[in-house]
Amino acid sequence: MSVAEETDVIVIGGGMAGAGAAFEISRSAKVVLLERENHCGYHTTGRSAASFTENYGNGVIRRIVLASRSFMTEPPAGFSDYPLLSKRGMITVARADQLDLLRQDLEAARALVPSIVAMTPAEAIARVPVLRADYLAGAYIEPHSMDIDVNGLHQGFLRGARARGARIVTNAGVKAIDRQGGQWRVETPAGTFLAPRIVNAAGAWGDEIAAMAGVRPVGLQPKRRTAFNIPAPAGVDISDWPLVHDVGAEFYFKPDAGQLFVSPADATLSVPMDAYAEDIDVAIGAERLERATTIEVQRVSRSWAGLRTFVADGSPVVGPDDEVPDFIWLVGQGGYGIKTSPALSRVCASMIAGGGLPDDVARQGVSLADLTPHRLRESQRKQVAS
Ligand SMILES: Cc1cc2nc3c(=O)[nH]c(=O)nc-3n(C[C@H](O)[C@H](O)[C@H](O)COP(=O)(O)OP(=O)(O)OC[C@H]3O[C@@H](n4cnc5c(N)ncnc54)[C@H](O)[C@@H]3O)c2cc1C
Repeated sequence: MSVAEETDVIVIGGGMAGAGAAFEISRSAKVVLLERENHCGYHTTGRSAASFTENYGNGVIRRIVLASRSFMTEPPAGFSDYPLLSKRGMITVARADQLDLLRQDLEAARALVPSIVAMTPAEAIARVPVLRADYLAGAYIEPHSMDIDVNGLHQGFLRGARARGARIVTNAGVKAIDRQGGQWRVETPAGTFLAPRIVNAAGAWGDEIAAMAGVRPVGLQPKRRTAFNIPAPAGVDISDWPLVHDVGAEFYFKPDAGQLFVSPADATLSVPMDAYAEDIDVAIGAERLERATTIEVQRVSRSWAGLRTFVADGSPVVGPDDEVPDFIWLVGQGGYGIKTSPALSRVCASMIAGGGLPDDVARQGVSLADLTPHRLRESQRKQVAS
């Protein structure tokens, strides 16, 4: 029998969450990251829209995004060969029947991001000429919304973690977890690992990891979201188009390496799995795109889906379990886990080091109560009592 490897912290999951956590925690502790697949980033992290918008997600998410911006614009020296953010912009559009919603949305958006401004339909069409004048009744623009180099960020975290001594172990699906003499013992096909603390960054599988460790679940709900590429309209340079997002969350599209990225913005409950695009969801996305624009979808060059995993209040779950404090949660990032990863990784590392929220995150108005798993236990208790 091989000897178990001892470390300070075991991170389970090699998506953006686990990679970011390994990067930050390895500043002051020995880390082993365990990933089930043969490479990190295979699941949701490799399937996103790569958008850094400060105007999407609930108030907690938006504040965490604001706290993540400085890392994205000025990452540590040597972190990445290219800038992590590039200019995109995001236009939110509305039909006549959505104008009230657009007004409310704009007011809420401007409260946190004052650079967001209303646009006339003509101004929106000037930016994205395929938008239909008979569809569009109102719009606003977030000028500083950006594209993220997701691979650059993910690889930067992994490379940086390795440089600080972390070990990244792939083909290491966690099969069993138990606790012996103050240590977690984690069994995988790639070996057995021992550490006093575990970080659960297993995305859609987070509650399964908790169950293995004898920790109560937090009620994770993986929701499938579909995306597909279509060729750009013939003879049109789309490279400067902003992301276009429907205010009712019915679709969005944006340029993607010379093609168009389109999503029906679906959110279908799923079990944790290797998600794939259903034909019906691709068809719904194509139909909504054709309704709002003059584009005729003749060919889909690639389609895929990923699981955006939420808890009931739509905020992430970060911090020690309230009943088993050596089990640290880093899950529930929903549709926002790329753009929030710089700040959430630091929050996770700070809690492991016994500290509170980093000052800059707290200054944005985020509190520990927004993130702690304890808040979910409280609401579970209230539900049982009522
Ligand atoms: C279509 C789509 C568009 C999106 N657009 C955006 C966007 O524009 N901006 C944004 O910020 N976010 C976006 N997101 C959300 C973002 O992609 C996710 O929030 C983020 O990738 C979650 O990262 P994660 O590391 O938690 O999960 P994952 O990337 O799923 O990683 C979890 C990892 O845990 C591993 N794992 C699970 N079980 C085990 C086990 N037993 N042992 C070992 N390893 C295990 C898995 O193999 C997996 O690699 C989008 C998502 C989708 C699907």
